[in-house]
Amino acid sequence: MEKQEYITKAEALLMHTYNRYQLVLDKGEGVYLYDTDGKSYLDFAAGIAVFALGYGNEKYNKALKEQIDKLLHTSNLYYNVPAVNAAEKFTKASGMDRVFFTNSGTEAIEGAVKLARKYYYKKHGRADSEIISMEHSFHGRSLGALSVTGQPKYREAFEPLIGGTVFAEFNNLESVMNQVNERTCAILVEPVQGEGGLFPAKEAFLKGLRALCDQKDILLIFDEIQCGMGRTGTMFAYEAYGVKPDIIASAKALGCGVPVGAFGAVEKAANAFLPGDHGTTYGGNPFATAAVNKVFELYEEMNLLTHVKEVSDYLEHALDTLKQKYSIITDRRGKGLMQGLEFKCTVNDIILKAMDKGLIIISAGANVLRFVPPLIITKEQIDDMTAVLESILLENS
Ligand SMILES: *Cc1c(COP(=O)(O)O)cnc(C)c1O
Repeated sequence: MEKQEYITKAEALLMHTYNRYQLVLDKGEGVYLYDTDGKSYLDFAAGIAVFALGYGNEKYNKALKEQIDKLLHTSNLYYNVPAVNAAEKFTKASGMDRVFFTNSGTEAIEGAVKLARKYYYKKHGRADSEIISMEHSFHGRSLGALSVTGQPKYREAFEPLIGGTVFAEFNNLESVMNQVNERTCAILVEPVQGEGGLFPAKEAFLKGLRALCDQKDILLIFDEIQCGMGRTGTMFAYEAYGVKPDIIASAKALGCGVPVGAFGAVEKAANAFLPGDHGTTYGGNPFATAAVNKVFELYEEMNLLTHVKEVSDYLEHALDTLKQKYSIITDRRGKGLMQGLEFKCTVNDIILKAMDKGLIIISAGANVLRFVPPLIITKEQIDDMTAVLESILLENS
């Protein structure tokens, strides 16, 4: 089939929830993707911050193939070895005491919200809790996660959403304090806002939230679905802030391509869940957790966190240089390999031109370019990316 035939068919058969780019991707190798015509693309999107290890990592693929031959799925009514190993690795890496594996990020948020509500219910015997979430945040597309997502454009058509959710201004402690009352059960925040435009939290803000939560026995939930798993240079972004949450949500790079998410919690919060309170058929199955295990093993083996720290300084500097040279760029912000360039104009045109020149980048909102490459990206490949970007900026200026 020709590329155009695939596209026509896709537009006829798939629900039209995306305006897709005219690309039919066929295979991946390292940090490169190939379309059905064999054209190669340097990938600075990584399937939206997913493919940390790059495409086609041999050890990762081998681990998955072995697990497929052994046991793909068994229900959570029984124990399985990969899930236990993955639980050990996840709790150790995240500093949490217990974990629940899900199939996606949005489900990790659903579980975190349910756990916070149950913690409050257990304590007060009342089901009237409230969660404070942040404006411009993004937490997923299922109804519970949408309810705590602070962007009206995603929510509007789907009201009424779940109740007991209020919003405060990100990086404004006073705004959060103004929303706290005796019914507040949790505060939910992304340490680095992703979809909202690559805004890192200020250290004083997270520290202030931690103190507030400690004082009032409110659970602090970090959504590290995008910023976690090494993306900002530490396994979880909170480590660099020195602020530990009570509940953490993870997904995206957790499976590096296999759909898996997780929410972990410290003992006092985790204990609120009793048998029957939460469940999932696929969540934490042997295949998904075999992926999680291999991901954690390879991060260590490849010394990936050290690499991320090294190359992210380089990426920051390269993007800062572009900003200095081109007045159409108004801001560079982010943390580690999670960077954004804000433009005076919308960025879709730049994205299309980049694609033409063999570079895949994505946006975060209308006027921010988002850089979330595979964590194995090298300085040389960063140079290749900036060269393409600069050639586009030169044409435009
Ligand atoms: C992607 C994302 C989600 C949703 O994850 P899905 O796997 O798409 O459901 C939630 N929160 C943040 C911060 C994300 O980046």
